[in-house]
Amino acid sequence: MLIDLHTHSSVSDGTESPAELLATARAAGLDVIALTDHDTTAGWSMAEAARPSGLTVVPGMELSCRWFLDDQPPISVHLLAYLFDPDHPGFAAERARLRDERLERAERIVTSLAAAGYPVVWRRIVERSDGGVVGRPHIAGALVDVGAADSVDHAFATLLHHRSPYYVAKADTDVREGIALVRAAGGVPVFAHGLATKRGRVVGDDAIAAMAEAGLLGLEVDHPDHSVAERDHLRGVAADLGLITTGSSDYHGTNKATPIAACTTEPDQFEAILAAGTGSAPFGD
Ligand code: AMP
Ligand code: FE
Ligand code: FE
Ligand code: ZN
Repeated sequence: MLIDLHTHSSVSDGTESPAELLATARAAGLDVIALTDHDTTAGWSMAEAARPSGLTVVPGMELSCRWFLDDQPPISVHLLAYLFDPDHPGFAAERARLRDERLERAERIVTSLAAAGYPVVWRRIVERSDGGVVGRPHIAGALVDVGAADSVDHAFATLLHHRSPYYVAKADTDVREGIALVRAAGGVPVFAHGLATKRGRVVGDDAIAAMAEAGLLGLEVDHPDHSVAERDHLRGVAADLGLITTGSSDYHGTNKATPIAACTTEPDQFEAILAAGTGSAPFGD
């Protein structure tokens, strides 16, 4: 059983449509894939319709959240959510707020890049996102198009990283509130790439314990952005707190170098997620 529980389609900031993503998953020999676009469930019906036989598709999402500190700016944390009810009103409203927030904030980044002389145009970013959820990778793509960066990675390294003068934070969901919403919608919340230091500041073990107290059910341990030591540490934290552990690629098509199935989840941990998720069912044979 090959199981990859974290992937993105062009419905958010991946480069393959849900149908293309599932074909990639099948070609890579995966048996189970979760579709976890940022802050939207718009790809679920497309994935259900395009599912190749023999592949199980877990409906999921990656919710943009924050961990608040007393004396410093909040830390960005990503919360994977599986098998929740997409029609739960409170959760649906929060996702809609986040998508609006993303639009406003991306436009502010583009305006400030344009003011500094980078020839990026907001309308082009909207076109690139094709009605989906807008993120920095769309701005990165536009910067590559106009020759201001060599690649999406290069655009992040030079202009779009979280310490860049052009960076604008967004008002993401308080992670404890996010966890409560996922659970209220019958879903399974899993803390994504919790120790990925290259993305920015990361939370401490105290925050993970508080998240578990708030209803968190799992930790993404094996992730391309985690070192061996970070994985070992998270595995220990999960054991201490009685949390599920997952491994996933965080595949984004050609927006990232990581191939699909670069990290995978153990079948018994997947079974635990299936047992805990009551808001929706996997798409399968
Ligand atoms: P946003 O959600 O708009 O804050 O953008 C964050 C997204 O940018 C992440 O979900 C990744 O898909 C992508 N990303 C972050 N860092 C990099 C990087 N160094 N290279 C390529 N993509 C990245
Ligand atoms: Fe992304
Ligand atoms: Fe993420
Ligand atoms: Zn992701």
